[in-house]
Amino acid sequence: MAKIMAVNAGSSSIKFQLLEMPAETVITSGVMERIGLAEGIFTIKYDGKKEETNPVLPTHAEGVQLLLDTLIDKGIVKSLDEITGVGHRVVQGGEFFQDSSLITEDVINKIQDLADLAPLHNPAHIIGIRAFQKALPNVPQVAVFDTVFHQTMSKEAYMYATPYEWYEKYGIRKYGAHGTSHQYVSQRAAELIGKPLKDTKTIVCHLGNGASICAVDGGKSVDTSMGLTPLEGIPMGTRSGILDPTVVSYICEKEGKSAAEVVNILNKKSGYLGMSGRSNDARDVTAGMNDGDHRCKLTFDVQAKRIVDYVAAYYVYMGGCDVIAFTAGMGENLKHLRANVINRLGVLGVKLDEKLNDTFSDERIISTPDSKIKVYIIPTNEEVMIARDTVRVAKI
Ligand code: ADP
Repeated sequence: MAKIMAVNAGSSSIKFQLLEMPAETVITSGVMERIGLAEGIFTIKYDGKKEETNPVLPTHAEGVQLLLDTLIDKGIVKSLDEITGVGHRVVQGGEFFQDSSLITEDVINKIQDLADLAPLHNPAHIIGIRAFQKALPNVPQVAVFDTVFHQTMSKEAYMYATPYEWYEKYGIRKYGAHGTSHQYVSQRAAELIGKPLKDTKTIVCHLGNGASICAVDGGKSVDTSMGLTPLEGIPMGTRSGILDPTVVSYICEKEGKSAAEVVNILNKKSGYLGMSGRSNDARDVTAGMNDGDHRCKLTFDVQAKRIVDYVAAYYVYMGGCDVIAFTAGMGENLKHLRANVINRLGVLGVKLDEKLNDTFSDERIISTPDSKIKVYIIPTNEEVMIARDTVRVAKI
């Protein structure tokens, strides 16, 4: 039996999950937040307990060391030798990485080279990788890229109609994101409907703070809504999603801002936050809608409309669809948004069972028996995909 640590390192946080493989059972999970600030937050769940402390975590290295010490102190593992592999989520692998990769210095350099395309994420992942390399020098580490799953898109799906040299010189094209989640959910969707994966067509709606839609045909991503960066696609917590690029130059002129400043607003101050004027959190926007705030209602309507635009396009592109699957924080929990989306798709013969949609439970079907497309809620599990790939690639 192997114990694999699945890691998602951000600029000031490390999310972790230790899994027993191949059973795929979670031994412990948690997060270290506010790394580098005066007081950190360390949350760990194990044996049905959840504990929170406020250690000082000057850098990721201290965070990782504290995590490993805690595993021993609490008897979660008897020895660190039990950890046989570490898998790291990496947001951007570009065209270079076509599969998850055993981490070497060359791989780290390449992840760094690709940081232009994911400036907030890739450098933070490297800091996390270095911290685990230092703490567990003899344990194989594997990079699992969000972009790899979308590398099966055809050129017609990933190219922008911009000067071709931009693609050749700078790699300007769609890469997509959330690949690990889309892959997990689409595999699970095929299992749930009892069809071989190679014959199953699924449209996955990953609706979290970041949100993307993916068309998965026969287990392969054939199109996805995010692009060169996660800004493209549907409106999200703080991101605008797709718009006419002229908006950027127009606002630059009107407000005397640089293009970088306007793009920053499109990434951080738009979407739910910008439209509702309240919050990027769907719970607050729902409360506003229920209080009669028309901008909050409009926020959900705009997002639902855009989601449906993609779902309809992907239905046509794949020549049909067996399952529409909702996942991530909003996809799993926001019944009014799911209804808002599915009720716009009646022309495709898809029918929501309002009662099933209202019930709170985990993975479940929410369409009626006569619905032509089955609709499921499938909680995503990126950590299990990271652990599976770590075992496969490191041959554990
Ligand atoms: P990310 O991983 O991209 O940060 P999540 O998948 O955690 O995002 O999703 C965050 C979103 O999910 C937030 O908008 C939050 O309001 C929403 N969400 C999470 N839990 C619930 C819930 N119980 N009810 C309604 N919305 C929820």
